[in-house]
Amino acid sequence: MINLLLNVLIILVCIFMYYIFLLNPSMEKKYRELFISLLSLVAMILCMVFPYYDANGTIYDLRIIPFLLGGLYGGRKVALTLFIGLVLTRFFIGYNLGFYVTFIQALITLAFVYYFSSIFHQSKFSKKIVVSLGFIFVIWGLNVIIYWMIHTNDLQEKELMLTSLVNHILVTVLTFVLVLYIIEYILQMLRFKKEISGAEKLRVVSQLAASVSHEVRNPLTVTRGFLQLLKDDSIDDQKRKEYLDLSLQELDRAQTIITDYLTYAKPSDENKPENLTIATEIAYLVQVMTPYALMQGVEILISNISGGFVIGDRQKFRQSLINIVKNGIEAMPNGGILEIGTSNINKDIVISIKDTGIGMSQEQIQKIGTPFLTTKKTGTGLGTMVAYNLIREMGGKVKVKSRRGTGTEFVLVFPNVK
Ligand code: ADP
Ligand code: MG
Repeated sequence: MINLLLNVLIILVCIFMYYIFLLNPSMEKKYRELFISLLSLVAMILCMVFPYYDANGTIYDLRIIPFLLGGLYGGRKVALTLFIGLVLTRFFIGYNLGFYVTFIQALITLAFVYYFSSIFHQSKFSKKIVVSLGFIFVIWGLNVIIYWMIHTNDLQEKELMLTSLVNHILVTVLTFVLVLYIIEYILQMLRFKKEISGAEKLRVVSQLAASVSHEVRNPLTVTRGFLQLLKDDSIDDQKRKEYLDLSLQELDRAQTIITDYLTYAKPSDENKPENLTIATEIAYLVQVMTPYALMQGVEILISNISGGFVIGDRQKFRQSLINIVKNGIEAMPNGGILEIGTSNINKDIVISIKDTGIGMSQEQIQKIGTPFLTTKKTGTGLGTMVAYNLIREMGGKVKVKSRRGTGTEFVLVFPNVK
């Protein structure tokens, strides 16, 4: 009995370890596959090394659960690795008749996983359960038939054996459903988190749009004025050239504003960690937020920019900074100064975003980052939460210093990767 619980525990620990590492965004896709293989392999082998005995002394273990789940969620390569691992482990445990039974069972499982793993991800929860359980019943049904045929002719003993097998199938099925439920639940939470951050981004994009169109109108108006002047035949060549140059400059400015805005607005689903140059990112941040700041009468100042790189998804890094800067600007309804600076402290990169706005109360400071906390008429209270999540995903930390009536400073600390 203790060993049965041990089997369940081994599987659960491996699942949780997987999620703890999955939340670490610096893990690339190819390592993810390796990681699933490794964890399922460890779970499977430990289950086999610590099997449990029923009242008649028959040995069982739950190896089929890590094998199935690892293969179904991890894909064909993982399934193949697990198959080889299982056969080898079984071989070292003992080369006897049981070895062949295991081998055939493993082969059937491999075939099943090979066929089903490609459509497993898109399937609904109920389909996942039905298909996997159906498979477990089939494979153990085969077992029952085999044992029925090759073991004693004593009917009473056969009955005992059958009861014990049925018990084991029930235990396997229950554990499997439990584990699958946990996995799906966590996946659902991760998906939900991603959706919130996507929805919040859309909102920011639409709010920035107003200021962008406003900012684009200015250069267009200026250019129009120059073109009007150029219509006059009496101006000399020197002036004509000057007006043309100024018009071109203004048009370029309009183009830059639109391009910057669109690179932010472009949806990106992929999570592609790369080395981000802090100086470039801050320059981008200032460019994309300047129209919004101007509209609110806020001036953006860059105090100090240090060298250094952080690792993370570019779009997400931008999204988190934009959310914080946007709040800073919104905290200054009568205009003010937003100061952005970065510095290298020890092995970290520190980004400071400081406004001279309304500030926050002690209670607000403590609660900031939790969802739906807003003091704005049309606010959602999701901006800081999304920013905090993204920053944490990148291995960063946030500190807030704020005083009512004086202003707020957000300090972000990221590990410097170079
Ligand atoms: P929203 O901006 O939609 O209200 P956020 O999650 O971005 O949602 O911000 C939550 C709340 O935190 C804001 O409503 C505001 O009260 C407070 N806040 C955030 N940043 C600042 C800041 N720089 N100065 C003052 N208050 C802030
Ligand atoms: Mg906000």
